[in-house]
Amino acid sequence: MAKIFCVANQKGGVGKTTTTVNLAAGLAKIGQRVLMIDLDPQGNATMGSGVDKRSLELTIYDVLLENASIAEARVKSEKLIAAGCSFDILGANRDLAGAEVELVDVERREKRIKAAVATVADEYDFVLIDCPPSLSMLTLNGLCCANGVIVPMQCEYFALEGLTDLVNTIKQVHANLNPDLQIIGLLRVMFDPRITLQQQVSEQLKNHFGNKVFNTVIPRNVRLAEAPSYGLPGVVFDPSARGSVAFVEFAAEMVERIKTM
Ligand code: ADP
Ligand code: MG
Repeated sequence: MAKIFCVANQKGGVGKTTTTVNLAAGLAKIGQRVLMIDLDPQGNATMGSGVDKRSLELTIYDVLLENASIAEARVKSEKLIAAGCSFDILGANRDLAGAEVELVDVERREKRIKAAVATVADEYDFVLIDCPPSLSMLTLNGLCCANGVIVPMQCEYFALEGLTDLVNTIKQVHANLNPDLQIIGLLRVMFDPRITLQQQVSEQLKNHFGNKVFNTVIPRNVRLAEAPSYGLPGVVFDPSARGSVAFVEFAAEMVERIKTM
């Protein structure tokens, strides 16, 4: 039975999508069966996995509206198959931006993805959900079906402030909608050890959150930023790049972590 994780942080540009696609690829590389769900209307995780979001016939939008099942809407990426690092993709595109409004009057609207994922959960080891940069109904749908939240964060001063809102939202969802939900961990991304402030914030994080901070640190690495323009996760685009090596390490850390869940 799959463990389900949201990659969430209401800030934009913190590395959610990079984390989702590279963790998915890293897990696939070490033999795990992965479904990646793109829950952001920008569709960056879809494109970054080598699937053209404009050519998709069915997306997470159709699953949310119950027009399609995940089994019908998921696709594979030819590029990832060719690289021997394939995972299933439930894509997103701009259609998804309308879902919020269309679901306003629908009953149990925050549990739509949960119900859909349950039908395929035994086919995977991991389901990873790339959340949009907001605490919207879409993110709520992700949080309602997840066992845990992975929070990518840059070690900057304001990062800690933003965390409070996310932690409060997760507490509320835990109390009211999904008793399974917990923060699995904070992932330090785009890390540059030469910057003193980043080291300080990293220490603060460890003091505050203890073992909720993942051991793996993802360095700032330009190869990770270049990879999406080739429609590939960095892990596939340049496996020997420092950032890619770190994401495969992180995948191994996640495999260990779920043994205790
Ligand atoms: P989000 O999904 O939270 O908006 P992204 O994953 O799209 O964030 O990352 C924002 C930008 O930072 C992208 O241009 C991405 O390529 C870049 N980026 C992410 N992680 C790294 C990293 N470790 N090193 C260098 N650039 C990165
Ligand atoms: Mg994103």
